[in-house]
Amino acid sequence: MITIIFEPELAITMEKNLFHKDFTLGILGGGQLGKMLIQEANHWNIKTFVLDKDKTMPAAQVCTQFFEGDFNNFDDVYNFGKKVDLLTIEIEHVNIEALLKLEKEQVMIHPSPKSLAIIKDKGLQKEFLLKNNLPTSSFNIFDTKEEIISAIDSGKLTYPFVQKARLSGYDGNGVAIIRNYFDHKKLLNTLSIVEPLVDIEKELSVIVARNPNEQITAFSVSEMVFRPEKNLVDMVLSPARIDSEIAKKVKEIAIETISKFEMCGLLAVEFFLTKRGEIFINEVAPRPHNSGHHTMDNCYTSQFEQHIRAISNLPLGKTTEFCPAIMINLLGEVGYKGIPYYEGVEMALKIDGISIYCYGKTSTRAYRKMGHVNILGDSVNDVIVKSRIIKDSIKIISK
Ligand code: ADP
Repeated sequence: MITIIFEPELAITMEKNLFHKDFTLGILGGGQLGKMLIQEANHWNIKTFVLDKDKTMPAAQVCTQFFEGDFNNFDDVYNFGKKVDLLTIEIEHVNIEALLKLEKEQVMIHPSPKSLAIIKDKGLQKEFLLKNNLPTSSFNIFDTKEEIISAIDSGKLTYPFVQKARLSGYDGNGVAIIRNYFDHKKLLNTLSIVEPLVDIEKELSVIVARNPNEQITAFSVSEMVFRPEKNLVDMVLSPARIDSEIAKKVKEIAIETISKFEMCGLLAVEFFLTKRGEIFINEVAPRPHNSGHHTMDNCYTSQFEQHIRAISNLPLGKTTEFCPAIMINLLGEVGYKGIPYYEGVEMALKIDGISIYCYGKTSTRAYRKMGHVNILGDSVNDVIVKSRIIKDSIKIISK
């Protein structure tokens, strides 16, 4: 049993609102999610501050002011938080102690430090889901690789299973699928959870938003297609090709999940639909998510605008999609490292209904997320056909 003790929630009042000329939105993390969040905030001329280690990060190029520092360091986060009116995140692996202190000192923070503390640790997150009767698979906690091996040897743990690092995992890093003895070399030697290998039919995602007035909205269910060799999202299709009853059910579960966390902002709820038709929550992320990038082009409200609305207690936007969409991640080609070059863009732009986003990372490497393409079309088939052409035409190489 894992326990974590928090101070009671504090009532926080906003002295200036979002549309005051001096209002400052602070973002912990300077990656592409931060960049796209700021680009949306720019529509409302909101002043944005960003904290991250490196001033060449994507969000540093578009924010009002960049602060060099470590979002895992207490002092850096605390001092940064003191400079802003509203603090949010684009990555959950941040210093929670500093956020708890800032919260006590009346700094407005969304999502709440309490929910971030639970979500950033896969062990606490799983325990929270199970305790709240949200559907997810059973799990066990291990502190070392040796403990896992002895559990296998004593018959307490059986193949196949999935090991996940409790902290700091992202984009499939920190996930090991162990099918037999020969996979032991993949075992991670870190605090981890172990869960049964699910027989996956589809991986689904629902992005929900909640504001302090407890208004909740859900975007359409999207379908994530993974690169098997890297556990990394290749494409996202929305709406997902699933039965309407399943779509209704996963939306309900996602809404229930954000209500249970009592958090404000976006929550991406990732699901496994099993071959037997069962639905399990895989994990949740309390921020804009890769599975919601298509909303920038095919939806009344983008996920980034919805996040800003939700954290600043504005009415949430309509989530209806105008048409089907596919989002393709532009990943660094294997074999290339260094200054990126986006090859084949000219050719891709001949296709109707595509929008290309280049994140502005200063160097590429194999499988690094360097950008994405949103593809709109009249039907799911139409976007699938176009996505094949785009995938073949755009490559991220280095020159
Ligand atoms: P990350 O936080 O790095 O995205 P996930 O927990 O989402 O890690 O796992 C990455 C991918 O690994 C999943 O999207 C899925 O394809 C695969 N995976 C994770 N857990 C399981 C499981 N229990 N059974 C089968 N595949 C899994």
